[in-house]
Amino acid sequence: MTAACPSCSTTDRTLLVTAALNDPREEMDRPTRRLLDVPREPKAVSPGSTVLYALAGLSGLSVIRSLSAMQHAAQEDMAYLAGELVVRLLVVTALLVAGRLVQRAARKRLLAQGGWPVSYEQWTLVHKVWRAAWLCRACRVVFFPLGALRPDFPASPPLRYEHFQDWLNETARQTELAGGFLPATGTPAP
Ligand SMILES: [Zn+2]
Repeated sequence: MTAACPSCSTTDRTLLVTAALNDPREEMDRPTRRLLDVPREPKAVSPGSTVLYALAGLSGLSVIRSLSAMQHAAQEDMAYLAGELVVRLLVVTALLVAGRLVQRAARKRLLAQGGWPVSYEQWTLVHKVWRAAWLCRACRVVFFPLGALRPDFPASPPLRYEHFQDWLNETARQTELAGGFLPATGTPAP
């Protein structure tokens, strides 16, 4: 498949952005790559929740130690060890719940700040749009040919590399609002 550049109207120097990024014959410099590469996945966990999950993991180890101590313990120590085990299990549970709450709060904060994408599902949309993008090496523009994302998708104007990431997010966001890609493109609506 070829696509004509909306700026210079030729197909000589146009190719998919994904192909251009992986083209060993014409390697891309780092700043350009940064402008064109797929945006990173939103972090599944916040730093605060990571610490809490790590602590939960450590407490989990102490639960295992308690269990193994109980296996070799004398009868009279059992009650004490069982009590200790319950306390440690409670600590693990509390840390996991706290981690989850902190994570949810971080996501909410990001949403309130207008951040997008914040979920993996939203990022998948961005990724789909990114995969449909073309560029023209002669004009240094990115564009979406007619029907690139779905049959009724209008051809985009030529976009400077610098505006590509914003445009990606905005297009994906609108696609999310419109209920996903139409099945006609072979991409099922989520
Ligand atoms: Zn061009």
